[in-house]
Amino acid sequence: MSRERVPRSVAVVGAGLAGLACAGALRDAGHAVRLFDKSRGPSGRAATRRGEGWACDHGAQYFTADDPQFAAEVRRWCEAGVAAEWTPRLGVFGDAAPGSRREGPTRRFVGVPAMTAPARWLAAGQQLLPQHTIDQLRRDDDGWHLRSAEHGWLDAVFDAVLLALPAPQARDLLGGVHARLEALAASEPMQPCWSVMAVYDDDPLPQLDAAFVNQPLLSWICADHRKPGRAGAPCWLLHAQPAWSHEHLEAEQPWIVQQMLGAFAELGARGVPRHAFAHRWRYARGALADAPAAAWDPATGLGLCGDWLCGGRVEGAWRSGRALAGEVLAHAPRASLAG
Ligand SMILES: Cc1cc2nc3c(=O)[nH]c(=O)nc-3n(C[C@H](O)[C@H](O)[C@H](O)COP(=O)(O)OP(=O)(O)OC[C@H]3O[C@@H](n4cnc5c(N)ncnc54)[C@H](O)[C@@H]3O)c2cc1C
Repeated sequence: MSRERVPRSVAVVGAGLAGLACAGALRDAGHAVRLFDKSRGPSGRAATRRGEGWACDHGAQYFTADDPQFAAEVRRWCEAGVAAEWTPRLGVFGDAAPGSRREGPTRRFVGVPAMTAPARWLAAGQQLLPQHTIDQLRRDDDGWHLRSAEHGWLDAVFDAVLLALPAPQARDLLGGVHARLEALAASEPMQPCWSVMAVYDDDPLPQLDAAFVNQPLLSWICADHRKPGRAGAPCWLLHAQPAWSHEHLEAEQPWIVQQMLGAFAELGARGVPRHAFAHRWRYARGALADAPAAAWDPATGLGLCGDWLCGGRVEGAWRSGRALAGEVLAHAPRASLAG
């Protein structure tokens, strides 16, 4: 590839909110964009697990919208019926560390009918290839080549590859490919989070919708079935503290369930769940201090975006994706895409 060649065909690896926001902006500007994700569908950590008669958001719980552009995007989601404001009866157990909570009133939003809904809406009309776990990148004279664990080296060749992944997963792909971007990704290890979904016949804690928990084991509890637009059996979601999750990262799931349900009972939850499942988020949260919102090398056509580059959280993911698209477009004026 010649230096600073205008990218026309772009591969975005990762169809979470960062990848989708980035791919959508590039598609709207006339680029041919393909999105690859290792999962069966989009949305990444804004995730929902479904079972017989129940569903539960076991990753991101809600999102806020401080940035005016993201606030406008959330209004579009609400108008499309894929998000709604959530006004829970919110409790707090234990004392919060000073400065750890936002000051002033907070507007909270959730996907409707599930946290995956905004991502599915954004993915409509995009070229998304699920169940493609990209495990190697190679740049030849004709452009970028991608290999997936499921399909081997792919036929398509790309002018640009944009990694919209948690930092450690981006780092794994960048080894021997791009030293500066690899070092950037290596600088944010990200924190884990154990989550437990517990399905009940009778609501174990009807007096609360959700609570921040400032205790050594749990960090957050939420009556997922009472978020807007939900249906199904009472289902509570429990998140563990990062330090506890880290300490017990390799523990067996039944033990995790037992410990977290025990801590939930100590908060006043009654009864025994019909089903309970644990899910380990190895790279749940992370936010690199003083980072650029996105990283782009026009000389090689390689870029990085993701929540960890823009303050963490859903809002940061979307903003980072948009920022990377903006950088790519700055090197690819619309007119030069013709022909
Ligand atoms: C337990 C938990 C609680 C959270 N709570 C909140 C909250 O309340 N509010 C909030 O705003 N945020 C919350 N977050 C954070 C929020 O979920 C993230 O900030 C946001 O979803 C990140 O989006 P992303 O696109 O940057 O990354 P991701 O959503 O992680 O997307 C990355 C995508 O890349 C895919 N992928 C990974 N490796 C490969 C590969 N090799 N090849 C192909 N695809 C790959 C993944 O399948 C995934 O779809 C929470 C996260 C977790 C885990």
